Amino acid sequence: MHRSERQLIARLRRRTRSSKSSGVTLGIGDDCAVLEIPRGHEAVVTTDFSLEGVHFRREWQTPECVGHRCLTRGLSDIAAMGGTPLAAFLSLAIPGSIPGAWVTRFFSGLLGLARKHKLELAGGDTAQSPGGVLADITVVGFVRRGRALLRSGARAGDLIYVTGSLGESAAVLQLLTGGKIRRRDVFPQPRIAVGQSLGEEGIASAAIDISDGLSTDLSHICEESGVGAVIDAALIPISASARHSRKALDLALHGGEDYELLFTASEKIRVPERIAGVKITRIGQITGKRGMRLMREGRERPLIARGWEHFSGPRVS
Ligand SMILES: [Mg+2]
Repeated sequence: MHRSERQLIARLRRRTRSSKSSGVTLGIGDDCAVLEIPRGHEAVVTTDFSLEGVHFRREWQTPECVGHRCLTRGLSDIAAMGGTPLAAFLSLAIPGSIPGAWVTRFFSGLLGLARKHKLELAGGDTAQSPGGVLADITVVGFVRRGRALLRSGARAGDLIYVTGSLGESAAVLQLLTGGKIRRRDVFPQPRIAVGQSLGEEGIASAAIDISDGLSTDLSHICEESGVGAVIDAALIPISASARHSRKALDLALHGGEDYELLFTASEKIRVPERIAGVKITRIGQITGKRGMRLMREGRERPLIARGWEHFSGPRVS
């Protein structure tokens, strides 16, 4: 083990003490972490890459923001399953040229979000990267047995909802790539409390987090559930920065990295206007006929899952 790696682990060990999770029997320091899943629950596990030049650029985002978004990617998946996060694991490869202060600030952003959600960074690995920062986050959570929210539960007639607003990350990316602004941090909040409510209260029939864009993530629900969908363009909640763009609707439909939840619920269920303080908006309905449609100005046309491929620039958070 490198001296610098040992120092980093020692520092992390001290810092993670402030965010102890009750379900982590043993955290950083041994060959494995030891976790306790509460009785009657199942583990939910997810893993996500954050790659420099793909998901972020050091000249565009502060290290705190990169760390925050790295953990958000994992937490948002746990939220989409209706889960409660328990522990995170991080494999981090850093080029030798990166100052130690960048790494310290990256962990500040990541651990700040971890504290907020009472989960512990319980292990990981570090290495020297031959080029660019590579961060691979794993999050372990738990959900009541048999109650995980799946992509496959949507039925014809169910209504389609989203949390918060869409298009912020994509709108800011457009400003950055177009040279309109030099730097800008966006700190999406993983919708953990909303996901828990949707699951525990039996509200949602299916759910997914919006990481690749509404159109692409809705297509995953449709495919897994064997259904179609119709979305009303006028109902889509568009974020503040996206509203200023001429492409506002495209940004909200196809822009990724919003980390809001997209879920379906039976027509018979009264879905609250807010859950855990987060605005909930109905945007459409599931159909028995396959394929996605977009209603706009009284006309219905096919809605193509374009996600991030639509943007010519790199996929940057
Ligand atoms: Mg996801």
